Amino acid sequence: MNNTIIQVQNLVIMFGDFKAVNDISFEVSRGEIFGFLGANGAGKTTTIRTLCGILNPTSGKVLVNGVDVTASTAVLKPHIGYMSQKFTLYPDLTVWENMDIAGSLYELSRPKIRKRTEELFSFIGLTNIPGGTVRQLSGGTKQMIALAASILHNPELIFLDEPTAGTSPKTRQAFWNLIRQLSAQGKTIFVTTHYMDEAEYCHRIVLMERGRILAMDTPHNLKQTYFPQKPVELAFTSDRQQIILQELHRLSLGNVGVFGNKLRVNITDKNAFEAFAQQHQTDFTVRSVEPTLDDVFLKAITGAK
Ligand code: ATP
Repeated sequence: MNNTIIQVQNLVIMFGDFKAVNDISFEVSRGEIFGFLGANGAGKTTTIRTLCGILNPTSGKVLVNGVDVTASTAVLKPHIGYMSQKFTLYPDLTVWENMDIAGSLYELSRPKIRKRTEELFSFIGLTNIPGGTVRQLSGGTKQMIALAASILHNPELIFLDEPTAGTSPKTRQAFWNLIRQLSAQGKTIFVTTHYMDEAEYCHRIVLMERGRILAMDTPHNLKQTYFPQKPVELAFTSDRQQIILQELHRLSLGNVGVFGNKLRVNITDKNAFEAFAQQHQTDFTVRSVEPTLDDVFLKAITGAK
């Protein structure tokens, strides 16, 4: 079996005169957790909708599981699960009724739906299937059930569009544990998120901005590429933090973030910074720190490397 499950070549998607997706190309391997990151309006949902066969490309080629997405959604449908950002579950129906509807979309029999629902609810850690309407459930439980509904037909490729938006840190963690387990079972996960800390869990990520891919690699490689020189943290031993902050800006020594009584600097000129640190050694101590993906994204957006 071919190890590539998604192939996108020079994909362009226009809405009227507006280019929502602007000539992007990438491939995703089976079993990968592939993260799509970008601010609102970057083109993430539009790309997912195209990969699911809901939207047609304006130009370019999109193959999913070897099938051209414009050819036949019927061929594609059994292989993909899609948990969309907006519609997830019917709030006025019970959990079982929602699962019945989700299953009937894939022509699963009633007994099959029951069996898969029970398996999946055990997988997502819900021992008692709630009896009331979905509206009465917590946000986190709803998201877990929405995930179960989107994979009821056991697809090999799962699209998750901001699955953890607006949920608690505990739910986010539980959700990502499930994502990792699905990937370990050989499923491919294509996930969008605004949370850079979540992106760390992806095998590879794409950083998107205004329809274009700014960067694509593993989190580790992206950090190496954008930060051959690691950021530094200044811990203050004097009360001159504010003055030093102004000086760092005035001398353009790098982008500075304030974290309580510490400053974090993405240095632009190593020699100039070292001379500055030497001059102010009674004010602060310096140590190198790991860049975050937020740091990478900021640098990628400004075009700096
Ligand atoms: P978000 O996180 O807000 O969902 P996104 O990265 O998923 O952002 P998209 O929803 O793909 O972004 O939207 C990309 C751009 O395309 C936006 O400017 C959006 O307004 C526009 N857009 C999306 N769908 C349509 C449509 N059906 N008609 C016109 N413009 C659209």
